[in-house]
Amino acid sequence: MSKTYDCIVIGTGGVGSAAAMFAAARGWRTLGLDRFPPGHARGSSHGQTRIIRQAYFEHPDYVPVVLDAYRLWDEIERRSGRSLFARTGLLQVGQPDGPIIGGIQSSADQHNLPIRRYELAELREQFPLFNFDEGTVGLYEEIAGYLLVETCVETMAELARQAGAELRDGATVGNFSQSGGDVRVQTDQGTFTGRRVIVTAGAWANDLLSALKIPLQVIAKHQHWFRIADERAKLSEGCPVFFFETPAGYFYGFPDIDGRGNKIAEHSGGHQMNDPLHVDRQLDGVDLQRVQEFAHQHFNTPRAVHVDHSLCMYTMSPDKHFVVDVLEDSPHIAFACGMSGHGFKFTPVIGQALVNLVDGTRRDDIFCGSGVLIPAGNQRTCSLLIDAGIDAG
Ligand SMILES: Cc1cc2nc3c(=O)[nH]c(=O)nc-3n(C[C@H](O)[C@H](O)[C@H](O)COP(=O)(O)OP(=O)(O)OC[C@H]3O[C@@H](n4cnc5c(N)ncnc54)[C@H](O)[C@@H]3O)c2cc1C
Repeated sequence: MSKTYDCIVIGTGGVGSAAAMFAAARGWRTLGLDRFPPGHARGSSHGQTRIIRQAYFEHPDYVPVVLDAYRLWDEIERRSGRSLFARTGLLQVGQPDGPIIGGIQSSADQHNLPIRRYELAELREQFPLFNFDEGTVGLYEEIAGYLLVETCVETMAELARQAGAELRDGATVGNFSQSGGDVRVQTDQGTFTGRRVIVTAGAWANDLLSALKIPLQVIAKHQHWFRIADERAKLSEGCPVFFFETPAGYFYGFPDIDGRGNKIAEHSGGHQMNDPLHVDRQLDGVDLQRVQEFAHQHFNTPRAVHVDHSLCMYTMSPDKHFVVDVLEDSPHIAFACGMSGHGFKFTPVIGQALVNLVDGTRRDDIFCGSGVLIPAGNQRTCSLLIDAGIDAG
């Protein structure tokens, strides 16, 4: 007789490794399935770093959730003994009445978060590494920084294993279906049975959740590393993470952490992809040129030499908020998708929320960790829990 798992997690990338960790910690017999090993570079959770910040320009409703994420990352660091989160500070620059500055200010005001505002002259004095466009201002958040993305995924997977989870990579899930009260998950390594299933398939969500018809768009995003001939661009010299709203688009970057160079990329733009498994991973000359122009215009340094590149994927939901829910007729099958290019910082919160959901937590309320309550149907903003039948409009 084959065994029945208490919980099967399909996709052990960012969100799935967190879900497996929380499921196993609950004492559940947990199986994680993935085509690739934790920390791989074929999905959406690779490329050295991810920004983590509190004064969320997207909407103030994210703030309690991100505060919970801070608490959980601290706990994961403590339990693993690994360093995952560097609080380098984050400088965000834009027009005083633009969406970035306005959004940050509104989150900070509403939640009493410490941010510091710099007018243009002060920006130039305080951050001489950068060149700032006329008319811009900056907001500096000291408690923000970056997460080491692959190490985070590997660490959550490792903690899941330590708590008893079985994680299988090299396993491609073809389908899953109800079988009595259980769920049968078909893979190229055989069929597995679980009492509960969590689907966290990132860019492949629509392959496994096609019946829901969630209008997700997978966008190719290039990450570039540059060698900047300026000591001030290094982490050791106090270079912060940075995010610029410019007339050409949104660009962000990181200090040079370990000699690999400064990672710089464009948050806006990107082209849609049809098959996330067979992606053209070559350098895109147009994308590189846009990022180089940004660097050329916004660094007070002689030259930024392109030294490395990696392709990643954003999976965009229609409103750019996350889609987290249970299946209409199967409350023991939950899913998260549409992380829309800003989901990594939240992975432990969402992983825990998914475990709460399949555990039978009331469908209309979802408690994340310390008790942050996210009401159902909150499509207005932080849609951590929205109806799967979301209207594309
Ligand atoms: C360039 C870039 C920059 C970003 N910057 C930030 C940032 O600064 N801050 C931030 O918070 N977020 C950021 N994000 C977003 C964040 O990284 C993602 O939202 C998050 O990593 C998505 O995690 P996921 O678990 O949904 O996907 P993944 O980590 O890709 O996990 C999905 C997993 O499912 C597996 N899988 C799928 N289908 C199957 C199948 N059929 N069988 C077996 N396995 C399967 C895949 O192999 C994969 O491992 C960025 C994303 C990108 C691409």
